[in-house]
Formats: sequence, C-alpha cells, structure tokens
Amino acid sequence: MDDSEPSVPFLDLSLQYQELKAEIDTAVASIFASTSFIMGPAVEEFEQAFARYCGAKHCVSLHSGTAALHLALLAMNIGPGDEVITAANSFIATAEAISFCGATPRLVDVDETANIDVRQIESAINQRTKAILPVHLYGQPADMDGIVALAKAHGLFILEDACQAHGAMYKGRRVGTFGNATCFSFYPGKNLGAAGDGGAVVTNDAAIAEKVRLLRNHGSVKKYHHEMIGHNFRLDTIQAAILKIKLPHLDEWNERRSKIASRYDQHIGNLSAITGPVTAPGREPVFHLYVIEAQRREVIEKVFREENISYGIHYPVPIHRQPAYAFLGQPVGTFPRTEMLAGRILSLPMYPELTVAQQDRVLRALEKAASLVAAI
Ligand SMILES: *Cc1c(COP(=O)(O)O)cnc(C)c1O
Repeated sequence: MDDSEPSVPFLDLSLQYQELKAEIDTAVASIFASTSFIMGPAVEEFEQAFARYCGAKHCVSLHSGTAALHLALLAMNIGPGDEVITAANSFIATAEAISFCGATPRLVDVDETANIDVRQIESAINQRTKAILPVHLYGQPADMDGIVALAKAHGLFILEDACQAHGAMYKGRRVGTFGNATCFSFYPGKNLGAAGDGGAVVTNDAAIAEKVRLLRNHGSVKKYHHEMIGHNFRLDTIQAAILKIKLPHLDEWNERRSKIASRYDQHIGNLSAITGPVTAPGREPVFHLYVIEAQRREVIEKVFREENISYGIHYPVPIHRQPAYAFLGQPVGTFPRTEMLAGRILSLPMYPELTVAQQDRVLRALEKAASLVAAI
C-alpha cells in the first residue's frame, strides 16, 4: 500500500454537509425549538417542492424508499396471488416490497444498459401479472416507451423505482411521471440524501397519492380515527427540512456527476480491458453510480487496494441467487446477463465533490490494471 497518498473515498458525505452547514444547522435548531418532530410544516413544504421538481401533481413523503415501493404497490391493490415484473439486477428492496404485499416478484434479465430488457418482459406476462416495476439503475433511465406500450397493451400498472435516479431525464422529461407512480429513496448516499432514512412516492394519480398518504399514517385522516389498516411510515420533520435545503442544489450536483462521468468515459474508452456504462439514446442519466465492466475485475480490485482507492460492487449477488429468494427456484443460468455482470462490475468513486486529482488517481489505477491484464 502507498501510504504517501491519502485514500480516495468511494463517497464522502461530509463535504455536502460542510457546504450547507449554516442552513442545515439553523433549520434543525428551529425544529428543536418548535418540537414539531412529526409531520411539521417542513414535511408538506418538501413534498410540494419535490413534486414540482419531478413535474408531478403529488408527492407523499415516507420514511424510506423501501416503504415507498411497498405502499405504492398496496395503493395499486397488489396482493397475494399477483405477480410484479422487475429486473433481476437491482438492490433487494425492489423485490422485497413486492413480497411484503404478498405478491411474487417475476424477475427479468437486463440489457446492455444494465436495466430491465424490454424484449424479455412480454414473455414474463401472464394472468397473474399486475404491474411492471422498472428500476432506473445507477441513475440510467429504463426504456420507458417500451414499458409504457407493454403496460397499455396488457392493462398493467407501472411503478418506477427511481431510488437511484433523482432528476434523470428520459426524452427531455424527468423520471417521476412515466408510470402510475414513482418511488424515490433519500438514503444518505443517494443523489438527494437525508441525514438518515427517507423516501417518497410521486404520482399524478390523486387516488394513489391519497391511499399512500393514509397507509403511511395508520390509515388516519383525523387523529385516532382510522379509515383503513395502515402503518407508521412517515418522514421525520428534520429529514424533510434537510431535504428541502438540499433540493435546489440537486441539478448542480447531478451536473458535476455527469462531468466526472464524461471524464471517466473519455479515458476508459482507450482501455481494452474495461468497458464503461452504456447510455441508450434519449436518456440523460444522473450517475448515482458509475459502473464499469471488466472480465478480470480482480486485477482492478488489487490495484485499487494497493493505491488506496475505494470502490463498490452493485450488486455482487443477483436477487434470484440470494438465499431470501431461493424459493423462486431459479438456478444459475436463468438470467445470464445479470449473472455475468455480478462477476464483472465495479463501481468507481462518484460524488459531486470528487476532485480532478482524485479522478486522475482512479484513472491512473485503471490504466495500470489494464496494462497488467494485457500482460497476462
Ligand atoms: C436505495 C434503493 C432502494 C431502497 O431505498 P431505502 O431508502 O434504502 O429503503 C430501493 N431500490 C433501489 C434501486 C435502491 O437503490
């Protein structure tokens, strides 16, 4: 290990806090002063601001992205006996939300963009299918035209998992209104992150918004009066206040991510052992993650460790290969592209404050790894 150079972190959340410290500290102090910790005014203010940002009519804030997926599916009346089609290559939460409604995830392999392969969705549709749940993975919008056409033809709901894609554009429009509803996560490391857990459902459908609003708060409109059996999935006032402060900066942060991605793209294009992410035409990704593909990933991992560069793997085990989903009975080989990616992908350091010098260190390490692979 080279101890003379500081590490390049995969993500450094302290810098964003430093940038907005005065505003955040004041907002948090004022919530302590009012002690309005639950459903304080900042919750509705943030909801309105985020709905406007997404170009949607409604936003219902929740305590996590997982809760958002869960309640949005319940609001679509998805339950036992139903199937929901989603990508095999995603964070586990997407499938878990389907399972917690009593429904079954029907997994589909991904295409060269790492998102659900639209050509494979149709053969997964059957009489039990109720919805398609595309994930805009790594901040790359899925093929929404294709998905909308299939949903229309078969009378299915669309729920978008945009937990990694705040602000991503598909054909000039931000994700959030292509499907019947869209879910976001405000987990601290996401492009728009709270100081704890947070999430939201965004929709143009007033009935879905209303049902999610009831479900998140014990099925209650009036305190101690309950219209339906709900849950406690509310967003904390403190988190809403912090998100409201951060939201106006999101586009600039996303632009900085794109700039870093372009720099990575330029250099990686010259390296034969490594492939960069593929963006399909008409899409403007927001690079929550910058994921490369390498047949000899272990060489890159070794060089990164030596050079003190942190990285991630999203995700090392596909959903159908997780013990939790062994009951789906899908053996190795069921989703070849997802399985191949699990063995080859690596996420490079990516956050808006990553310096040019840090990016250069990442790129130099990749060049070194590529020359080592060439010598094998
Ligand atoms: C983060 C994430 C979720 C879950 O969000 P939480 O806020 O952590 O519950 C769901 N789906 C995807 C694709 C995610 O990246």
